Parts: sequence; C-alpha cells; structure tokens
Amino acid sequence: MKFLVIGDIHGESNSLSRVLLAAVPYNPDAMILVGDIGSPILGSRVEHTSLRENLYEKSLQSIFSILELFDLPTFFVPGNRDLVHIKYTNANINNVDIMGEGAPGFMAHMNIIGIGGAGLTTGQWPYEWDDPGAYAGILQRINCISGLEHTIMVMHDPPFHTRLDRNRTSVHSGNEALRRLIEEKQPSLVVCGHIHESPGVDIVGVRTLAINAGGILKEDADRLYITKQHIDIRISQEEQFFIVSLEEQGIQIEHFFFSNNQLFVRNYVFDEDKLFLSQNGILVQVECTYSKAYPSKGRLEPPGNNEVDGEGARTKDGANNDSW
Ligand SMILES: [Zn+2]
Repeated sequence: MKFLVIGDIHGESNSLSRVLLAAVPYNPDAMILVGDIGSPILGSRVEHTSLRENLYEKSLQSIFSILELFDLPTFFVPGNRDLVHIKYTNANINNVDIMGEGAPGFMAHMNIIGIGGAGLTTGQWPYEWDDPGAYAGILQRINCISGLEHTIMVMHDPPFHTRLDRNRTSVHSGNEALRRLIEEKQPSLVVCGHIHESPGVDIVGVRTLAINAGGILKEDADRLYITKQHIDIRISQEEQFFIVSLEEQGIQIEHFFFSNNQLFVRNYVFDEDKLFLSQNGILVQVECTYSKAYPSKGRLEPPGNNEVDGEGARTKDGANNDSW
C-alpha cells in the first residue's frame, strides 16, 4: 500500500501538477494532504473580506479540480490558513478532520484520522485551537475509535520538540498536545506539515513513525539568512513530496525533491522501531526523538519525568510562532 504525501500546497496549482506528474510512475494507491491547501490569502492581520474569501475558495477549487484528474482516493485536513469549513463534494476526496467537519477515513485496513488547524499562536489565523481544551476534545473523539494501532494520523501541526518542528529561527514550535497524543495512542504513522523548514522523518513516542512533508515548495534552512532588519526565507521554486509504502516487512519512506529540474530521492527504512537512512546502499541509523526528554512549554504537562534540556521552548505569547 503506497501513500503519496504532499505538504502545504498554499494554492500552488502548478507545483501540485508537477508533483503529481512526478509521482505517477511510483504508482501510489492513495494520497494524503496535510493542510494549508488553498491560497494563503486569509493570513493573519488582514480583514477577511468577502473578496478575499472568494479568492481563497477559487484557489481551493483549482487545487481540487487538479486532484480529481488524478483520480486517487484522497484524504485531507484543513491547515491553520484554511477555513475549517472546506466545502468540497467528491466521493474520492475525503476531509478526515475530526476537529472540524470531517470524519475518519478507512483504507487498506488502516483508520485515517485527521486533526486539522494548528495550536493557538496569534489567534489571527483562520483555524487555530487552544491546546488544553482542544486536547480534551481530541481525546474524547479518538477514544470512540477502536483499533488505533492500525491508524494513520494526519495532523497539520507537527508534534513538539522533534526533528519535525524547528521553525525558521531553529526554535521547536510544534504542538505539545499532539506530541502527547502520539505518545499515548501510538498510531502506526503520523503525517504532518505546517513548519516548512523541517521536512523529514522521526520516531515519536515508543514506535510511531512521523513524517513532516513540509511545504510543496522546499524551504532550505541552509539558505536562510537573518539580519536585525529582516528575515528572508529563500523559497525554492522546486517541489518535494513523500511516498510511504506500508509493507508487512516494514515501512519505507521515499523523500523526493527536485533540484535544478532533476528529481532526487532520499530513502528511509523503518524496521523494528528503528529508522535508517540509505546512503550509497548502506543503511545508517537515524538518531530519533523517541528516547529524548523534552521541555514543557508550561501549558500542558508532558508525560513522565522529563528533564528540561534547555532547547528553545516557545514562549506562551507565541513570540516564536512565526510558522506557516
Ligand atoms: Zn500551516
């Protein structure tokens, strides 16, 4: 069973076409979108006029009409820059956001459960929720679902303090409630996006493989420069996507990315709760988050007696929450 996983699209219909054409030869059986699908025109600090909302709806329709052409079962959640109420009716394209208006999906003996939006930051994005209250709500809904060990969780926001949540200033800015949820429920696989600067793979909790698909357009942290005057993220005009193969002998992840118009691939193997990166035919074990303690942001106690390692917990007022 192969899933094509695409990061935040932000209305980039040309990039979506390019990714889908590149992915077709790998024969994915289904597609997962991790949110922030439509144009980012509904950003913070702008008034949501009807013109802006109409432009957003148009961009969404254009993305979904491209997806229809590829005719793959598709599961999505809205991101923090989408509206909670994504109106789209197509039997093949499923909103799985249990926080909003979706419902769990099911494919190849796997539950597909979505948690859209993102934890509270500025309070100005279209789809944000407050961690402690939302966490109780998520648990209530998830506890009604059986067979969670055979579950793919689709989250927009990545789990806190992992390889998947460093923002443009290298601060961990993922969501603590979602990390706690993964550690408690131990789904087979988590896919997320939102923090474009940290695409990659990690193990979270005891055994959950987690993938941040980043943005559909790569943001290369190496090319980031910061001055006192301004922060400039060099957004590449080249795309990336992931293909996740769930097989009896383990899970394989292929991270595809364009560079100078050529398609490259980075291969990961998840076997017996360990993650390996294939380099020149040799498997090298990846140091993952699962064994590490992490500091609480003070809004939700982490499970266990974790030590604070001093790495940048984000501030309660969201000063470092400048993610997409
Ligand atoms: Zn986002």
